[in-house]
Amino acid sequence: MDDETWTSDEFGASHQGRVGVLLADGSTPKPVYFDGSSSTGHYVAHWSVYDGGTWPDRARAAVMRAECVCGWAGAVHTVDWAGFGDLPFREAGTEDADRCMNDWDGHIADVARRTIPLPPELETLLESVPAPRSRTWPATRRSPR
Ligand SMILES: [Zn+2]
Repeated sequence: MDDETWTSDEFGASHQGRVGVLLADGSTPKPVYFDGSSSTGHYVAHWSVYDGGTWPDRARAAVMRAECVCGWAGAVHTVDWAGFGDLPFREAGTEDADRCMNDWDGHIADVARRTIPLPPELETLLESVPAPRSRTWPATRRSPR
């Protein structure tokens, strides 16, 4: 299960969102390493892996929130573990994940409102500038063999 990210047609890689989780102490958990059935394992940082389970040992999410590569983060949604009953986190948490996506949609709408189209001369000038290296989430990196 790879990380899910959201992009908008308008802003592409400059605003790429995802569901982030924070632990009870406010820290961000590391990606969880899963041994694959093949020879290669896999790091996963998808929100649903942070259910406090074992094999492999993993942290339990306290809150979920939308995050964007631009540095923006949405409001936190407290994970209601008691309310989930027997449902696995990947099912019970989808409602909060959807809320996070809505928060990110709101962020994109804000960005769109603040974005003023560039005059064509300036746009041409900017296109001649080399693009900065884009920031990527470490979530779907494969481990070296
Ligand atoms: Zn953004």
